[in-house]
Amino acid sequence: MIAEGGIVYGCAFEKPFSIKHIRCSSADELEKLKSSKYVQSNLAGIHSQIANDLKNGKKVLFIGTPCQVATVALYTKKFGTNLFTVDVICHGVPSIQLFKSSLPTDIVECNIDKLTFRDDTAYRLKIYKSGKIIYKRELHIDLYMKGFFKAIFCRDSCHECKYTRSERVSDLTIGDFWGVDKSQIHTNTDYGLSLALVNSEKGHAMLRNIVSEVNMVERPMEEAIAGNKQLRFPMKKTWRSKIFKTLYPICGFKCSAVCSMPDIVLKNMIIRK
Ligand SMILES: Cc1cc2nc3c(=O)[nH]c(=O)nc-3n(C[C@H](O)[C@H](O)[C@H](O)COP(=O)(O)OP(=O)(O)OC[C@H]3O[C@@H](n4cnc5c(N)ncnc54)[C@H](O)[C@@H]3O)c2cc1C
Repeated sequence: MIAEGGIVYGCAFEKPFSIKHIRCSSADELEKLKSSKYVQSNLAGIHSQIANDLKNGKKVLFIGTPCQVATVALYTKKFGTNLFTVDVICHGVPSIQLFKSSLPTDIVECNIDKLTFRDDTAYRLKIYKSGKIIYKRELHIDLYMKGFFKAIFCRDSCHECKYTRSERVSDLTIGDFWGVDKSQIHTNTDYGLSLALVNSEKGHAMLRNIVSEVNMVERPMEEAIAGNKQLRFPMKKTWRSKIFKTLYPICGFKCSAVCSMPDIVLKNMIIRK
């Protein structure tokens, strides 16, 4: 997209401590979009910027959650056909405020440069300042990620999400290829295996453009759907989120997270012993 003079919009960490969509017009800027941020991304001002780019005849690629893609596609419908979209398979987003409350205050307040939530297949929070990791949280002690996987902290509307289905709103959908029949994959998957669903001719064109740069194997759609619940239905609201949401305003993140996942916390303690 960039090589063709287009613009890419995607989610980045921005100082001071925000997760938001940004506009990228050079390949260097794309670095900031890499890696999933498991927090709701702020789209303030983005729709009108995309509309302006489209009005000025630019090609635009927007990458985001399916609900974000739907709003961008609707908002820019009247500005021609130069919008390309990629959505991530999504099972819900917690707010940035909630994520911050899971961190030590000094980390939140020390003007960090960058954060990452995973190293390829391993979920591991890392927070950087001046080129150094100043905070690291492994999955087994990470109450935020544990609760994220169980959809305890996500927005209420995520539990009723109408985009968690195999018919997608974007041109291309990306996700983790859980449930793949590994016997059919004859390439190194140590760094993970992504899923790409082609949803339109534009999506097909995007994938064709990168075909020489990736190892790609065509698999049946049923395999993707069977392995990934969020291609079938939204994450259910359980007793866990009810407990968390009741306790959180009174006793804060840690106590509410432990009370909403006592079994998971206990299991982790036993495994580590
Ligand atoms: C909140 C969230 C929930 C997810 N849930 C699932 C799931 O249940 N099942 C599944 O298979 N995959 C899920 N994913 C997708 C998965 O994490 C990877 O993004 C996907 O496998 C592609 O990996 P990648 O390394 O190629 O791309 P990545 O480096 O992860 O990034 C792809 C693009 O995602 C965009 N992005 C990153 N964070 C956000 C965000 N917070 N909001 C909007 N856009 C963002 C960036 O613009 C980036 O360009 C989720 C992603 C997010 C952000």
